[in-house]
Amino acid sequence: MAATWECPSCKRRVPNSVDECRCGWLRSRVPIAAPKPTDLVRGATRRGWEIWVGLAVALVLLAWGIYWMVRPPAPPPATGILGYVDPTPPPPKPSPHRK
Ligand SMILES: [Zn+2]
Repeated sequence: MAATWECPSCKRRVPNSVDECRCGWLRSRVPIAAPKPTDLVRGATRRGWEIWVGLAVALVLLAWGIYWMVRPPAPPPATGILGYVDPTPPPPKPSPHRK
């Protein structure tokens, strides 16, 4: 917030602590600056941009979900526990007690 306000009558900068200009203009008579139409347009475009990004993210997530529903990932290959034989058995250990 500005520390001064401009007197519309004499264009002098007056501190915020002073409510009356030297020319006699009261601060309460200063019109409140209305937002410019360009600011409104800029805000609207920014909001539109955020909406489009949100829609794009939602669309990507939706497509990803549909893809996973139609083509779920293949389950990992199951390894049988019973009857499982090692393809290459380890070499027999030499026994030092038997000769
Ligand atoms: Zn003034």
